[in-house]
Amino acid sequence: MTQRAYYTSDELTLSTHVVRCTPMEDGRFRVELAETLFHPQGGGQLADQGTIAGIRVEDVLNVEGDVAHVVGQAVPVGSVEIAISAEVRALHARLHSAGHLIANVGQNVGWLPTKGHHWPGECRVVFERQNGSEPLTAEGLEAAVNALIERDMPRQLIDQQGVRSVCFGDLPMHGCGGTHVASTGVVGPIKVLKLKEKKGQLSVHYDVAR
Ligand SMILES: [Zn+2]
Repeated sequence: MTQRAYYTSDELTLSTHVVRCTPMEDGRFRVELAETLFHPQGGGQLADQGTIAGIRVEDVLNVEGDVAHVVGQAVPVGSVEIAISAEVRALHARLHSAGHLIANVGQNVGWLPTKGHHWPGECRVVFERQNGSEPLTAEGLEAAVNALIERDMPRQLIDQQGVRSVCFGDLPMHGCGGTHVASTGVVGPIKVLKLKEKKGQLSVHYDVAR
């Protein structure tokens, strides 16, 4: 099983080992690493981009609980250097962390966060209306989230037997396998683009500054 180094590390390069390189039906190769910094697609977040032995990684997938790195040419088994695209990682971590803060603010006024989707250009957090959910406006939500961002609260990670939780400052902990900014200030000001409520499901669409 590949060790997910990105759970505990923000490093963008790593020396590790190729454990296996298996041809796939579509002519590409599936690389299994001893340790990886690549966040696979899942949990509402797109995969990291980058290289293994200088070869571009085309997809990173969760397959049967393990991380599969898909590349266009075979990589020899043995020692290898991997590198993550800093720009893509930074954007994904900012969008994903903003999602946590929106969920926190909504929860504070009685909304239950149920889903997050943090793909660039289509970010949203979905809440379920509860008894006692207070009215929300795009402006009010945006201001409350931006206030948390301005406080620049540090990220805390807890890993208990492979179950990883994250929180910012004194906000509540959430189980999460994604990549996050080191402190909320790194997110930069967010924009709440629209709120849409349908059958008790409130979608908050948002973006970060580019
Ligand atoms: Zn997260």
